[in-house]
Amino acid sequence: AENKSILRCEEIEVSYGAFKAVTNVTYEFKPGFLYGLIGPNGAGKTTLMNALSGRAQLSKGRVFLNDQEITGQSPHARTWAGLGRSFQITQIFAEMTVFENLRLAAQAHRFRLQPFWRPVGKFKEIANDAERVLSEIGLEGFGHVNAGSLSHGDQRALEIGLALLSEPKVLLLDEPLAGVGHDVAEKAVELIRKVSQGRTVLLIEHNMDVVMEISDEIIVMLAGEILASGEAETIKRDPRVRTAYLGEE
Ligand code: ATP
Repeated sequence: AENKSILRCEEIEVSYGAFKAVTNVTYEFKPGFLYGLIGPNGAGKTTLMNALSGRAQLSKGRVFLNDQEITGQSPHARTWAGLGRSFQITQIFAEMTVFENLRLAAQAHRFRLQPFWRPVGKFKEIANDAERVLSEIGLEGFGHVNAGSLSHGDQRALEIGLALLSEPKVLLLDEPLAGVGHDVAEKAVELIRKVSQGRTVLLIEHNMDVVMEISDEIIVMLAGEILASGEAETIKRDPRVRTAYLGEE
C-alpha cells in the first residue's frame, strides 16, 4: 500500500461464549495519527483495544504491527515491539514515590534491552529516562511525592509516563480523562496532544468535545463493529452516528 499502516487488524473477532464483543473489525492505523475511538457503552471499544494489545483472545482474525504479524503474541512481547498502553484501572504503586514508579518502568525496559545487565553505568541512564519522562508529563517537582497522594489527574499523567518508558510507537489510551475534573482536563488534553507527537495514538474517550477536537480521525463502534470512521466534521454529520447516539448524550 502507498500509505503504509503501522498497526493493522484484519477481520478480528472476540467472543465471550456465544456473545461477540467485537465482530469482523478491519482497520489500518496510519503512522503519526491520533485516533479517537468512540461508541455507546458496551460497543466493544475496550475489547478492541484489548484485542490489539494482546489482552483479549481472538476467535478470528489477525493483527499486524509494522507489517509483522503479532496475532497470538503476549502483551509483553507487543510492548517490546512498540505497542504500549495505559489502563482504565490504575497501574501505579501508590506507596512508592513518583520517581520510583518511573524508575521501575525505565529499569524494566532497559533490562529487556540488555539481558546481560551491568548495573554500573546503567543506573544513570535509568535515572535519566525517569527524569526525562517526569518532565514530559509535567510532574517536575513531584518526583519525591508518594504516587498515591497525587491528584487524580496527576496519577493519570503518571500512568501515561509509565507507558512512555517502553518507548511505544503506538500508544493505546483507555479513558485517560476518566474521573479527571474539569479544571485539570485541559492539562490532560495538552499532555495527550504532546505524547501524540511522532507517535500513533488510539484514544478511548467519552467526552465528545475533547475527542472531536483532538483526533485526526474518529472511529465509531456500535455493537462490536466499526460503524463509521473519518474526520470529526464528517462523523458529526453522519446520520448513522447520530442515530447510534440518540439518548446517549
Ligand atoms: P464502555 O464504554 O462502557 O467501557 P466498551 O465500548 O469499552 O464500553 P467493552 O468493555 O469492550 O465495551 O464491552 C463490550 C461488551 O462485551 C459488553 O457487552 C461487555 O459486557 C462484554 N464483555 C466485555 N468483557 C467481557 C468479559 N470478560 N466477559 C464477558 N463479557 C464481556
